[in-house]
Amino acid sequence: MFGSHLSIAGGLHQALLAAEALHLQTVQIFTRNQRQWTAPPFRQDAVLQFHSEASRLGFGQIVAHDSYLINLAAGDASLRRRSIAALAGELERCDQLGVGFLVTHGGAHGGAGETAGLRRMIDSLERVLKQTASRNAILCLETTAGQGTALGWKFEHLRAIIEAVRAEHRLGVCLDTCHILAAGYDITTERGMAATLRQFDRIVGRDRLRVLHLNDSLKPRGSRVDRHAHIGRGYVGLPAFSYICRQKRFAAIPKILETPKGFAPNGRLWDQINLDILEKLAAGKPVRIRSWRVEKGPARSAPADVP
Ligand code: FE
Ligand code: ZN
Ligand code: FE
Repeated sequence: MFGSHLSIAGGLHQALLAAEALHLQTVQIFTRNQRQWTAPPFRQDAVLQFHSEASRLGFGQIVAHDSYLINLAAGDASLRRRSIAALAGELERCDQLGVGFLVTHGGAHGGAGETAGLRRMIDSLERVLKQTASRNAILCLETTAGQGTALGWKFEHLRAIIEAVRAEHRLGVCLDTCHILAAGYDITTERGMAATLRQFDRIVGRDRLRVLHLNDSLKPRGSRVDRHAHIGRGYVGLPAFSYICRQKRFAAIPKILETPKGFAPNGRLWDQINLDILEKLAAGKPVRIRSWRVEKGPARSAPADVP
């Protein structure tokens, strides 16, 4: 099932209507302004409208992405405390909306080292899960590009966290193709993608994978830099996407585009172009990537509210 990260500007349900217009089966949203620490509670009518549109569309597997301010591994105790409260609040918002999955980047150790960072992150997660014991949304740790001091760029980090957390049944994983390539995993061929998934299954566990982020990468393998590119127009390339889209085991898993928004030079929405490519790959059809010279333009054309 395909989806895209879409804006809630103008109302939460606007993301659902935009997903409908793109013929998507699911969507990813921020449930609030992701650049502020606090958010006003939802208005009841906004929640009702979201529920009614989601049920009209039959969207049962909606995904939310957490705020970038959150750092569960922060060295500063007050920042960590705020992060714990914010993430707990986001889990509650997901439950109010009936959103099943909350994707989080977790944290960055800020120079303290990965072992210390992971220890803090585990401790913070314990607190988040304890504070939200009655909540249903699954918290999905995202594989990161390992930019700066970000944790979660090795499958082993995710395993260490999941193993240590008591309420591990409430944890899942979101695998982002751009991030794992930037982190160093060789997914540039179908064989490489298959081998990387086998590694994931062995280290993290097959059933933990609850969400996929399908993004190509502007930066090469091992760069540890997180810059998303359109499908087939970056260093990941089509084989990885072809492999993923043809897997029966992923058929019911939300596969979310977080590629730049806006219009391509041919006047079509980039989301539509990227989605067409994924659907062709899923059907085993050939895909041709059109070259537009204008692409050499600014590397980052995504609006501010796209991961
Ligand atoms: Fe992502
Ligand atoms: Zn990213
Ligand atoms: Fe993300």
